[in-house]
Amino acid sequence: MHDFHYLNGELICEKVKVNDIASQSKTPLYLYSRKTVSDHYRKLNTAFSSIPHLICYSLKANSNIYLLKLLAEMEAGADVTSGGELFKALLSGIAPGKIVYAGVGKTQDEITYALNKGILMFNVESIQELHLINEIAGRMKKKAAVAIRVNPDVEVETHAYIRTGKSEDKFGLTIDIADNIFKKRDSFHNVELKGVHLHIGSQITSVTPFTESIRKVVGFIEALNFELKWLNIGGGLGIIYRDEKPSTAEEFAQAVIPLVKERGLKIILEPGRFIVGNAGILVTKVLYVKESGSRTFIVVDAGMNDLIRPSLYGAYHEIKPVQMRESEEIAADIVGPICETGDFFARDRKILKVKSGDFLAIFSAGAYGFSMASTYNSRPRCSEFLVEGDKFRLIREREQYEDLIRGEIY
Ligand SMILES: *Cc1c(COP(=O)(O)O)cnc(C)c1O
Repeated sequence: MHDFHYLNGELICEKVKVNDIASQSKTPLYLYSRKTVSDHYRKLNTAFSSIPHLICYSLKANSNIYLLKLLAEMEAGADVTSGGELFKALLSGIAPGKIVYAGVGKTQDEITYALNKGILMFNVESIQELHLINEIAGRMKKKAAVAIRVNPDVEVETHAYIRTGKSEDKFGLTIDIADNIFKKRDSFHNVELKGVHLHIGSQITSVTPFTESIRKVVGFIEALNFELKWLNIGGGLGIIYRDEKPSTAEEFAQAVIPLVKERGLKIILEPGRFIVGNAGILVTKVLYVKESGSRTFIVVDAGMNDLIRPSLYGAYHEIKPVQMRESEEIAADIVGPICETGDFFARDRKILKVKSGDFLAIFSAGAYGFSMASTYNSRPRCSEFLVEGDKFRLIREREQYEDLIRGEIY
């Protein structure tokens, strides 16, 4: 599953003691396993090997360039949602012809940039955007390849903030509007309609919403009577944070392949969390253990600026000492140093009694961890490390105080 495990009470990543890294470096720090990243990528790639497909890793989950280079070496494509992500994907060596670009608010500058670089296609989210792409491509004397993002309006069980496939969510176009676009395609002279895109949300553990939406969209494509090359089924595959039972890559592929195989469509997948989520941990140091009334607070040196998922989504992350000692289990709130009550990693959590100076590992932090980090409270963003077998390397330096004022005019 992933490459973090305990040996005699000691947390090991691949073949490296996490304590060795933490005690040599300033905490907090993110730590990733190279093997987990490549294993997850290969698992999905193998599961879909019987049909033509392209895996476009979703950069927003984690866009560290070293990790992107790893994925580029494995011939992954990229799913980007901004000019900045496009820049990073290209810099990492991901081929422009394997990059898809989604998002409801692409700007003129971003569209021009992507057209200049020759990306595989835009995933278009509104008619207004399609008009703009058509106009810009015309000015540049180019033909823009696009897929229409359809909102299939299906029930998806996940946190409302990361659900994208209901008609009241801001993403994609209804099937009726998409149909209209295909009918009027001749009026978009500088656009080539190449596919249909859907992405129904994130951290989805059951295959049913996927198969239901793919069925809808395949039905729509058949009714179009128009030669389409690509069907992009998005990302969203769920992972284990606590006791979830997500479908495996194999089960997911077994459910999806029969729905698309006979249609001669090339499939694009846009996994983010599935690839990197369980490939990373956030390591933090206990600063103080504080009793207040009936509660125990474990104050650590990481904050919501480093990992915002618990504060933002009430997300659960497993938290354990990096070195487990024989000690009693207590219930505690594990909180950061930031001046907000929402700055917590866990509440009323059972954990082995720890003391100041101990390191804690916050698990499943590889996706939407560092990529959502900020410098709130003027806290420099932390470092990132990668374990490769029995070695580890720094893949992003901890920011300095000087970095906090970069660009500020005074
Ligand atoms: C966020 C996003 C993804 C990746 O979602 P995961 O749940 O991390 O797999 C894929 N496609 C689009 C369009 C997205 O917005």
